[in-house]
Formats: sequence, structure tokens, C-alpha cells
Amino acid sequence: MSTTRASRQWRGVLHEYADRLNISEATPIVTLGEGGTPLIPAPALSARTGAQVYVKFEGMNPTGSFKDRGMTMAISKAVEHGAKAVICASTGNTSASAAAYATHAGITAAVLVPEGKIALGKLSQAIAHNAELLQVRGNFDDCLDIARDLAENYPVHLVNSVNPDRIEGQKTAAFEVVEVLGDAPDFHIVPVGNAGNYTAYSRGYSEELVRGETTKLPRMFGFQASGSAPIVRGEIVRNPETIASAIRIGNPASWELALAAREASDGYFGAIDDDKILEAYRILSAEVGIFVEPASAISVAGLLERADAGVIGKGAVVVLTVTGHGLKDPQWALKTADGSDVTPTSVAVDTDEIAGVLGLSKASS
Ligand SMILES: *Cc1c(COP(=O)(O)O)cnc(C)c1O
Repeated sequence: MSTTRASRQWRGVLHEYADRLNISEATPIVTLGEGGTPLIPAPALSARTGAQVYVKFEGMNPTGSFKDRGMTMAISKAVEHGAKAVICASTGNTSASAAAYATHAGITAAVLVPEGKIALGKLSQAIAHNAELLQVRGNFDDCLDIARDLAENYPVHLVNSVNPDRIEGQKTAAFEVVEVLGDAPDFHIVPVGNAGNYTAYSRGYSEELVRGETTKLPRMFGFQASGSAPIVRGEIVRNPETIASAIRIGNPASWELALAAREASDGYFGAIDDDKILEAYRILSAEVGIFVEPASAISVAGLLERADAGVIGKGAVVVLTVTGHGLKDPQWALKTADGSDVTPTSVAVDTDEIAGVLGLSKASS
């Protein structure tokens, strides 16, 4: 058998998993080649915990977050149903993704974001992809309420994760993990905002079990930021606060689905303080070599916390989903743990001086 270069081109999740998704010949597939992201062994995290840790790096998707997996499905179905415009509320990544897929399909994306609360990289993406972007003087939960209202009363199609097509597309990430590991992991850890992704992985793994591709369900562990942890606290949080802007959500859209999924997998929801999120963010970038946005690093923080608590034991196979790329919100990399600015050292055009600064001494011959 020959493997030509062309045949190794990943075709996006709707083409790759057409038999496992609700699409037909009539569905115009709108894809930017999303999915097929790497599952990266993380020896530094394995050494810290004794577990076998893998990182599913969703920042490698076309717009830099896992949102693309659901968006290819949502936009394809919207176009199939004749939509000319879509709308979403967003903490940033949904707007970037909706804007890219809508413009690729030749339709309009309108996005509502909380003013001053989304990372500059994401705002730039939505604008670059020609979205009608409105900054709402409220929080994410307000934006979602309005987006739902508009979709009910005007000819625009809602592409938030309350749209079931989004979760369907996102479940494909679980399929990819199973293909690489040959079974489900013992634990799967994800950041939780609206809890759509937690729900999607749970569904993907359940389907793999039914198909006989796995011997078990992984225990699904989801983490929210302490200042924005409605599921952990069991009540809506009116003014959620965290530096992890992608999960600053006080009233999760998929709350009920996520509780059912936790039940089915003997799962867990935990809360992590912002300083622990940033500590994990630095460990992941400086020790593993993977750059993510702060919300994504909560998976790493959750792993360390659960390993410390003795819940994740030695040798357990653990997959961490890191949801979005670090380049979207890079300012955090330029701060030290005590909050001071990191300023790169400036040097003259002088080899000897630079060698001195680097602590190099000449090799003797
Ligand atoms: C959307 C998002 C999340 C939260 O996912 P939910 O499905 O809303 O729980 C986490 N991290 C990043 C980077 C995101 O963009």
C-alpha cells in the first residue's frame, strides 16, 4: 500500500466522521480542516503525578480553539436549512470561529460579546473574518439571553452550544482520543464554561463504548474557576469573575446535560483559584512546551489537584483537553508569578557581550 501525501490530508471532522454524524448528501459541508489535533504525551506532567498524561491540544484547530469542531457542523446545518445569517454570544472563541466559518460559507455572522471582557486576539479574529461584532455592556450570560431572543424573533440562526449541532460536532474529539490510545483513558479532564464540551466528550465516549471501540467510559472531570463556579456551587453566579475569560460564565447553557454526564461516568466538578490556573499555565508552557490560554490551563491545574488528593493514582491514563491557543491572550506570559512584568534583556550587537550574558565560556581547543 502506498500512502501519498494527498491521502494524508485531514479532511475536517464532517468528512472524517460522516457515518457518525447527522449529515446527509444534502448537507453542504463547510470546513476549514478542523479536528485531527495532536494528542501529546506530557512527560513533565507524568513525572509530577505518576500518571500517564496526554494533552489533547485543541489550540491546533483552524481558528485556534475546539469551537471549530462544533462550528463546522452548526454552520453546515444552518446553510443546509437556508440560513443567510447566524448569531452567537461569545466569551471570544465562539465569535472567532462563527465568523470564520460563516464567511467561508458566504453568509453573515453577528456576534455579541461582553464589552471589555474578551481577549484581544479573539476580538481581532472576529473583526478580521468580517463579523458584525457588537460589544454589549453586560456579561456573557446577558449576551446569550439576547442572542436567544433574536434567534426566536428574527431571521437569524443561533450557533451557540445550546444549538445541538455544536455538541454533535465537538464529540469527535473523543473519537480521535480513542483512535490514538486504542481505548478510553481512565480520566478525561476539561475546562468548563457552558459545559458543552464536557457534555460532548461524554457523548463521544459513550458512543465509542456502545460501538465496542472501548472497554469503559473515562471518569469525566470538569473544572471551573473559583470565582465562576456555578456547577460546583449548585447555583447561578450573577457576576462571575476570573482571569480565565473563556470560562467566565455564571449560568451554563448545558448545566443539566453535564450533571447527567457526570452521573454516568462517576465524574467530578471542581473549582480552581486563579493563581493556581496561572501556575499551571506556566508549567504547561515552560515544562511541556504547549502554549494555551489561561482557561485551558485549568485542566492542568485540575490534574495536579486531583493527583495531590490521591484520586488520580499512579499509572492512570489521563487525557487533558487544552481548549484554546496561547497566542489568543498572550499577555499572561509576560508576567511572573508575583505579578511583575517580564522584560527581555537588551544587548548590543556584540558577540562577546552576548556570550557573557548567556554565561557561555569559549570552548578550549
Ligand atoms: C469555550 C471555551 C471553553 C469552555 O467550553 P464550554 O463548552 O463552554 O464548557 C473553555 N476554554 C476555551 C478556550 C473556550 O474557548
